[in-house]
Amino acid sequence: MTTHGFPETHVFFRKLTAHLPVIERSAGCWLYDADGNAFLDACGGAFVVNVGHGVAEIADAMAEQARRLAYVSGAAFSNEPVEELAAEMAALAPGDLDRVYPLSSGSDAIEAALKLGRQYWLECGRARKHKIIALAPAYHGNTLLALSASAREHYRTHYYGWLVNVVRIPAPYAYRCGCGGIPPYCPACSGAALEEAIVREDPETVAVFIAEPVGGSSTGASVPPPEYFRRVREICDRYDVLFIADEVLVGAGRTGTWSALEPSGVVPDVMVMGKGIAGGYAPLAAVVAPTRIADVLARGSGALNHAQTFSHHPVLCAAGVATIRYLRAHRLVERCAAIGPVLQRRLARLRELPYVGDVRGRGLLAGVELVEDKETRAPFAREAHVAERLTAAARDVGLVVWPNVGHANGERGDTIMIAPPFIITEDEIEMIGDRLDAALVTVSRTLTGASSANA
Ligand code: PLP
Repeated sequence: MTTHGFPETHVFFRKLTAHLPVIERSAGCWLYDADGNAFLDACGGAFVVNVGHGVAEIADAMAEQARRLAYVSGAAFSNEPVEELAAEMAALAPGDLDRVYPLSSGSDAIEAALKLGRQYWLECGRARKHKIIALAPAYHGNTLLALSASAREHYRTHYYGWLVNVVRIPAPYAYRCGCGGIPPYCPACSGAALEEAIVREDPETVAVFIAEPVGGSSTGASVPPPEYFRRVREICDRYDVLFIADEVLVGAGRTGTWSALEPSGVVPDVMVMGKGIAGGYAPLAAVVAPTRIADVLARGSGALNHAQTFSHHPVLCAAGVATIRYLRAHRLVERCAAIGPVLQRRLARLRELPYVGDVRGRGLLAGVELVEDKETRAPFAREAHVAERLTAAARDVGLVVWPNVGHANGERGDTIMIAPPFIITEDEIEMIGDRLDAALVTVSRTLTGASSANA
């Protein structure tokens, strides 16, 4: 096994059979490999690099913090950057969400949020409230509790005996639900499926409902109807169920507002942020919760049972503070909202191509769903690896996109995700469209089963 430029590797790679180019440097929306090839980063790595590559202010803030104070245990001391990050994030969070618990990955923060939900009810004296309700499709991370909440079978299959039971309801996924996202809504899109599940399970046993406000990689940028989360809020209030909003992928401005839930006016009980909050400069995530929930633990056990060595880390928090201030100083969330429709309009033109079943999204988050039959919306066989092949074809023409699989029926489904840095220009958006066109044409030629309905 070799990689470009490194004839012998000691790296245990995520993909053990892949031949990965070595990226040497980056700037703006671009990555440059060791051979001088340039790649347009149309997905911010993994929906992470919202501010763009090579921001010196963020790198400098981290270096300065590392020189001044690199580490203290969050159990023994506070530090200036964690206080500043908490103040910044509390000011941006909706409603009464004013307590910020920084961690170092989205999965870690999802684990912490779910455990917070369980611990809250236990310390309220309602010990039977322990069940988690989650959507299908859904993705909330790869550690075991987060994976339990995720309906992504190809990640789960090796660990079935280790995962906890999670009650699953269908996601509001307009391209594949009963109503197409148009009123009168089906139970998945109206929220009725949530109420039915809570009543069926016995509300006194249900602790939390977790969902992404816009489907990130789970439903490939599917946007629920505007009323959906208002109904979710009412139902959760009626049955004393905590609503956890997973904003790891769609938060930090990605859909044109700081949180993707913002346009609905709904305040969740707990919000989880990650990826874009430190722009890829540091592995930072956070649980954001109200004092009314933290106070129950303060009066009871005295701590959230999620002790992690690198929580409240000064350098990671300094990266978060610098990123949030950079986003604000350059009005980049506003820029994302303004230029998002340009991206969505350019990608909508892909609908004319064979196999493009749907194009959707909000802000600078978009999904292009590929199907074998545009009429019936039948997905490709998984063995065809269409999303992966399209991603490889895009990389061959210098474009980095993200492949999603499995959302059509748990196993099948191919979607390409686009999520460029917020500094993307209109010319670069045109380039994303042109390069994706070219990659789609290349892959289409190799696909069997093309019918006249697809042309
Ligand atoms: N939640 C959502 C919605 C995600 O998309 C992800 C990762 O893609 C996670 C949680 C887990 O985050 P991480 O990969 O940082 O552990």
